[in-house]
Amino acid sequence: MILPIVRYGDPVLRKKGKLITKITDEIRQLAADMLETMYDANGVGLAAQQVGRDLQLTVIDVQDSEERPSSMRIRGELVPLAEHMPLILINPQLELSKDTEPGTEGCLSFPDVTASIMRSASVNVKATGLEGEPVEFEATGLLARAVQHETDHLNGILFIDRMSRAARVGISGKLKRLQRQ
Ligand code: ZN
Repeated sequence: MILPIVRYGDPVLRKKGKLITKITDEIRQLAADMLETMYDANGVGLAAQQVGRDLQLTVIDVQDSEERPSSMRIRGELVPLAEHMPLILINPQLELSKDTEPGTEGCLSFPDVTASIMRSASVNVKATGLEGEPVEFEATGLLARAVQHETDHLNGILFIDRMSRAARVGISGKLKRLQRQ
């Protein structure tokens, strides 16, 4: 089922997600609905807060494109991205690299807003999968960026919080309009 996507201005986007201690049928259904909603909106990631739920659950699907490449390593070995997409991450914990890089980001909760955001160039991810299995990988490129953007959502942090002051001034009119809606 395609769920309505919460837009900027809704207080749920500022809520820290609750840890998921038991993977129930309801959680499995929510994850399936979030994937359907993300694909329908042509997004590469969606967090539970964006469908109105304050839970530590996010879904991600990035394709390896020349324009926006990604890499994924499991136990140090490079793995084919397509075999591991989509990702469903429960209670993700990140270890961020010190080296950072700028990259363009948008967000399904901020229609028509994009900006360059500094993020760690690589990230180590530890999470739980939908079957309760441990999920561990290292990512670079767009995948690293998507994981950081979505994990921020799970902690009530939005990409506007990480924009430069100049970028935020540039979109302030759009933000005000979104908040009024
Ligand atoms: Zn977002």
